[in-house]
Amino acid sequence: GARVRFAPSPTGALHLGGLRTALYNHLLARRTGGSFLLRIEDTDQSRLVPGAADDLMRSLKWAGLHYDEGPDKPNSKYGPYVQSLRLDRYRAIANDLLRSGHAYKCYCTPDRLAAAKAEAAKAGTPPGYDGHCRHLSAAEHQRREGEPYVVRYRIPEAVKATSFHDVVFKTITVDHTTLDDFVLLKSDGWPTYHLASVVDDHLMEISHVLRGHEWLPSTPKHELLYRALGWDAPMWVHLPLLLNMDRKKLSKRDGNDGLGTFVSRFKDAGYHPESLLNFVALMGWTPRGATEVVAMDDMIAQFSLENLHLAPAVVDFDRLDWLQKVHFAKLVAEDPARLVAELKDALKAHGIENMGDDGYLQRVVTLISTRLHRIPEIPAKSPYFWTDPNYDSPDAVAMRGSMKSAQLGMIARHVLDHMVETNPTTAADFNALIAAVAPRAGVSKNVTMVALRYMVTATRVGAGIADTMAVLGREVVERRVAVHVG
Ligand code: GLU
Repeated sequence: GARVRFAPSPTGALHLGGLRTALYNHLLARRTGGSFLLRIEDTDQSRLVPGAADDLMRSLKWAGLHYDEGPDKPNSKYGPYVQSLRLDRYRAIANDLLRSGHAYKCYCTPDRLAAAKAEAAKAGTPPGYDGHCRHLSAAEHQRREGEPYVVRYRIPEAVKATSFHDVVFKTITVDHTTLDDFVLLKSDGWPTYHLASVVDDHLMEISHVLRGHEWLPSTPKHELLYRALGWDAPMWVHLPLLLNMDRKKLSKRDGNDGLGTFVSRFKDAGYHPESLLNFVALMGWTPRGATEVVAMDDMIAQFSLENLHLAPAVVDFDRLDWLQKVHFAKLVAEDPARLVAELKDALKAHGIENMGDDGYLQRVVTLISTRLHRIPEIPAKSPYFWTDPNYDSPDAVAMRGSMKSAQLGMIARHVLDHMVETNPTTAADFNALIAAVAPRAGVSKNVTMVALRYMVTATRVGAGIADTMAVLGREVVERRVAVHVG
């Protein structure tokens, strides 16, 4: 089985691009009966964001992307899974590279590097490191013992280019004139991303590196390091770029309704993990058959590296809403108890304590599932299932303005009379009530329905009014209609 890793830096919360990377890694591991591990890459201490690592782990857990090895799952053979706890390993390997001549100490100060860079810009030469310390003699190194230094990789002079194979992007060849002697170990003894990720992928026996397109330019450096160390490189699998609808690189600020692309925001907005995973699964991969709707089991059964796309994926958030609708309908049919539990939380968060029993809540969810597909929207958009209508709301005032008040009072009276006569309970009963009341009140069925919607919900849009009354029950309907009797 494949040994794969998701290796985020805790520089921010998990976003959709990271979720996709984690998902594809997870799918490959599950598909091949391998292992999926989480590694926290926190070697750039200046960019750490407090709480980011926790958010990453919480979001993965919420999404159901369970890793076999990771910071909170100690494994004596490969751990620790946090790079800041592995510094001795990187230093040892950097020393090996120094001894074998694949790396050298560089004493250039930041000021010198900045000056060299400015000069290069003026002269139009490549901006990378100019090789100032590359050829220092052993005696010179001895003389400078004690000075601060970084360890740089020495790009081999004899070879002019490095080629590697990527499963998605095929053969990539990089001319060495475009690479400089990059830093492996910083002057404070901490490794750079390049060194740490190569060392860890090797020590953790990673077989496939699946990661975002933005890491493709780093891969020749990694490939060179593997060769210098005499290690076999993993299979490289870079995932296609993510673009927004304007075909620009997807940014954290994209996303529907200003949600941004953070996983936790989608969670809070009521998207289900099934929908969000289905959504990101399609960003660079196509399931078999005509369907766009896939559950985790389908994805695991169908995932293959050969089907990954090369072309950038355009992220269309309307598709997420559509998928949420589809998965919501599935949940209504298959796991309504889960939706009821979520609705209870949403009502509590909204300050509604008197919410009715589970049967009632399930009937509400089922009824409004044709219109609302995110539970947290329900208390605000359909409060009338729990509280008496607010006839002073702008919506209610506008509705009232469209009706003649004499008609309203008359309709109310006939509705109450009819309810006493027939004791309606089902939606069919309430439909019959509407049909019977309209001619008695001398108005159309349509006017009767608008009047009832006003009296019972004071909200312009909602599920069918007869169905709504059936869920609310005769007693509640009677009480709300009675207020309007003229
Ligand atoms: N730490 C890198 C990141 O934040 C990981 C890149 C890789 O997977 O090698 O995305």
